[in-house]
Amino acid sequence: MPLNQEQLYQALVGRGAITVQQFEQVVKTREAQEIGIGETLVAHGVISEQQYGQLLAWWYKVPYFDFGKEKVDLDVLDFVPEVFAREHKIIPVQKTDDSIVVVTNEPLELPLRSLLEKYLRKKVSFVFSTKRNILNHFFLFQRDPKKVIDKILQHQPGRNEIDTSAIDVVDALIGFAFQTGASDIHFEPEETRSVVRFRTDGLLHDIVDLPKEIHEAVILRLKVIACLPTDEHLKAQDGKIFYKTTWSNSVDIRLSIIPTTHAEKAVLRLMADNNRSFSLNDLGLQTEDFRKISSVIHQPWGMLLITGPTGSGKSTSLYSILKILNERDVNITSIEDPVEYDMEGVNQIQVNEKTGLTFAKGLRSIVRQDPDIIMVGEIRDQETAEISLNAAMTGHLLLSTFHTNDAATAFPRLVDMGLENYLVASTVNAIVAQRLVRHVCMNCIQSKFLTKTEEVLINELPMVKDELLRISGKKELSEIRFFAGKGCHICCETGYKGRVGIFEILVVDDQIREAIITKQPAEKIKEIAVKNGMTTMLNDGLQKAVVGLTTADEVLKASRNGF
Ligand SMILES: [Zn+2]
Repeated sequence: MPLNQEQLYQALVGRGAITVQQFEQVVKTREAQEIGIGETLVAHGVISEQQYGQLLAWWYKVPYFDFGKEKVDLDVLDFVPEVFAREHKIIPVQKTDDSIVVVTNEPLELPLRSLLEKYLRKKVSFVFSTKRNILNHFFLFQRDPKKVIDKILQHQPGRNEIDTSAIDVVDALIGFAFQTGASDIHFEPEETRSVVRFRTDGLLHDIVDLPKEIHEAVILRLKVIACLPTDEHLKAQDGKIFYKTTWSNSVDIRLSIIPTTHAEKAVLRLMADNNRSFSLNDLGLQTEDFRKISSVIHQPWGMLLITGPTGSGKSTSLYSILKILNERDVNITSIEDPVEYDMEGVNQIQVNEKTGLTFAKGLRSIVRQDPDIIMVGEIRDQETAEISLNAAMTGHLLLSTFHTNDAATAFPRLVDMGLENYLVASTVNAIVAQRLVRHVCMNCIQSKFLTKTEEVLINELPMVKDELLRISGKKELSEIRFFAGKGCHICCETGYKGRVGIFEILVVDDQIREAIITKQPAEKIKEIAVKNGMTTMLNDGLQKAVVGLTTADEVLKASRNGF
C-alpha cells in the first residue's frame, strides 16, 4: 500500500522538507488525485525526486537506494526475469552472503517479500527507491541478444539438435522482442544466411544473423506453433500464435510467411499486451499540459479531439484518458476500428464494414443508449462528425481522433466538413495535437553541443532559434547543452530507446471561440492560443531536447513533417 495522505504529511511536512502551505496547495489539485501527492510535488519542483525518495525511505525505515551512486550487480539481475520485475516494480541489485538486496517502492508489502523469497530461495532485504526511479532503470535488464543466440547455436549440428536449437532461437527472440518492446520480428532469408530484424519504435534494426539451415528449422518451428501446414512452401500463409512467456504473460502473435527467391520469409507481429497499463503521465506530458488535459476531461460534456498523423500515438493518449475516466459510476462506450486494446469496464464496439456497422451507424445506436462518455476511434467523414458533435452538445463527453497537422487547423477542417462554426465553437472543449519522437537511450546518454551543421540549420529557423535561447536562458546557440546517445547494445547502436510524446493542447476559451465564430484562419487561432498560454509542439519538443529526453534533431525532423 502506498502512503496515505496523513502518512505522507508526516514524512514530508513533519520532517520540514516542505511547508504546510506547499502540501495543502498540491493536495487540492486534480493532478494529485491522478498521479499522487508526492509525485505532483516532484513534478512541480517543490522537492527533488531524490529528496522525496529519501524521505519516504526514512518513513518506511529501510535504506534508500541511490541508482546514481550505488552499484548494481548485473549478475544479480539474472535472478529474476524482467517481466516479473516489471510486474512487481522491483529490481534485484546486490547480493550479500545471506540475502538478495531488492529495490522496491513498497517495502512493507509482505506477500511480495515472501513470493520473492520463495522464488529466490534466499532472504530478501528491501531497499527503497521511488516508482519513477525504478521504472527508469528497467533498461538494466536488457542483454545482448547476439550473445544469447550464439550460445544456443554453439551446440551444432546433428539433425535433431538443429530442431531443438530452432525452438530455443524462436523462444529467445520472441522473449527479447517482448522485453524490448519491439512490435515485429522479421526473418529475412538471403543467399547464405538469414537476417533477423526487430521493428522497435517504428524502425527496423538488424539483431542477429542465422545460418541457412537454422532459418529453415525456424520457419518450420513457426509453422508448427501456428498450426500451419509444414509441407507448403510456395504459397503465402497467415497464422496466429498464442505465446506464453516464462512468467505467465501471454502475447498474441500474428505470423505471415511468404515465399521469396531464397527461402520463405517470416514476419511476426506482436500484438499489444492486454495488461498494458496506460498512463497519461508516461506519455511525457509536462505538468502544465497535464493539468490542462485533466481539467478538460473532467468536464461533463463537450468534445475533445486528439489530432496527428498515423503513428503519432493518438490512440495511446485516448486509452490513457479513458483509463482515468473509467470508474464504476460512469458508462463509457466506444466505437473503434480496430479495437486495439480491451479495456475492462468499457463497452467497446468494433466497426464492421461488411455487416454495415460503420462509425456513423454504431455511433447512432450508442447515443440511443445514453452513455456518459463516448469514444469514437476516428472522425473520418461528415456523417460521423455531425453525430459526434450532436452527442457532445447533448450532454455527453465525446473523445475522438482527427487527422490534422496541428491543433488550430482542426477548427477550419471541422467547418470544411460541413459543421456549423458556431456549434464547433460552443462544443469543442479542447484539441490536443501530438507527435512521437525518439527518446534518448538512458544507458549511453552523453551531453553534447550543437555541431556546426546543426547550428547553421537552426540559424535558418529564427523561431526555433529564439525558442531555444529563451528556454535555455543562453545568449548563443553554441552555449546550449543538448544530449544524445552514443550508441550501445541496448539501443542497437542507435542512441535512442523508446519514444516520448510532444504535445500542444489548445483549450477553447472565449477568445478562441470568438475566432472560430468569425471564421479566422488557423494561423490566427494558433496565435491567440499561444498568446493565452499554449505551448506549441515545437516548443514542447525543444524543451524536451534541452533536458535530454530527446534530441534537437528528432524535434526538427518531426517539425519538418508539418507543424
Ligand atoms: Zn544506448
